[in-house]
Amino acid sequence: MIYDVIILGGGPAGLSAAIYAGRARRSVLLIEKGAFGGQIIQSSGIENYPGSIERESGESLTGRMSAQAETFGAERVTDTVTGVLPEGKIKTLTGAKGKYEGRALIVATGAAPTRIGCPGESELTGRGVSYCATCDAAFFEGLPVYVVGGGDSAVEEAVYLAKFARNVTVIHRRDALRAAKYIQDAAFAEPKLSFIWNSAVTELHGDGLLESMTLKNVKTGEMTVIEADKADGTFGLFVFVGMSPMSELFDGLLDTENGYILTDEGMATNIPGVFAAGDVRKKLLRQVVTAAADGAIAAARAEKYLADLHC
Ligand code: NAP
Repeated sequence: MIYDVIILGGGPAGLSAAIYAGRARRSVLLIEKGAFGGQIIQSSGIENYPGSIERESGESLTGRMSAQAETFGAERVTDTVTGVLPEGKIKTLTGAKGKYEGRALIVATGAAPTRIGCPGESELTGRGVSYCATCDAAFFEGLPVYVVGGGDSAVEEAVYLAKFARNVTVIHRRDALRAAKYIQDAAFAEPKLSFIWNSAVTELHGDGLLESMTLKNVKTGEMTVIEADKADGTFGLFVFVGMSPMSELFDGLLDTENGYILTDEGMATNIPGVFAAGDVRKKLLRQVVTAAADGAIAAARAEKYLADLHC
């Protein structure tokens, strides 16, 4: 079958595109490699999506978006796409489960958490090192927890982790947070939360579990080793140092800047019939509300592209 619209990525941008394209009576295939909902499913409570006044979880909000996309006829498949031929009138994607063909393609692959990139990080991921507070906070009930980063994610999740941890220490490479003022206010008001400023994590150590880490004061060069209490044996390290766009599949095909796909305001890329929406796109503000808006615009533009082709 040749679909009118194939959407790659099942986060808020992809789901919103599926709702709009499905509602325009287009045949839609939504392909997602992991869980539908995107990275926001890791968020414990969303308070800035318009209408969300009850701090609904990301999983619940995107669950409703998924159900809505289905009511408009969007088909969904879980597959990892490894090849793409986006030029020409039929766009072809190849995944582990098969080949998918569509007349228009909306790329909504999102972004993934950036790693610190220090020795020991890969080996200790899932063994003390985490990139998702909602997923892993409960494992650190009553233990000390450290958070790396100074942006919205780091500070917001540090406040959330304080509900579980014995105490939470935010390690930031500067002496000022990047996080929004209202998020900072919540952090400074949290008695279990403290900060280590001007510091970077340079090495993680542990035999099976995270047991100690080395910090470097980036101003003085002083190195400090933080060790787990003997009684605890371990501690948690949550890393929130930004996101990297998941655009590798389109390397050399789509125009990008620092990996983020460049589009016009109609979400059109440099290839006719290929649109990009959400966090994978170069844009000013990466939020659920802007991802959903991108998806709606991309679907509307895809509709116009198909109509112009008399499809
Ligand atoms: P971000 O805004 O890019 O912040 C990344 C933080 O990590 C910065 O404080 C940065 O330090 C630090 N950092 C970067 N690389 C580092 C490294 N190698 N080692 C140590 N620290 C490093 O990322 P984010 O917080 O994940 O947010 C991503 C996007 O989602 C943003 O647009 C954000 O506004 C949005 N978001 C919004 C909300 C909300 O509205 N409630 C919640 C979460 C995320 P510097 O400050 O020194 O650069």
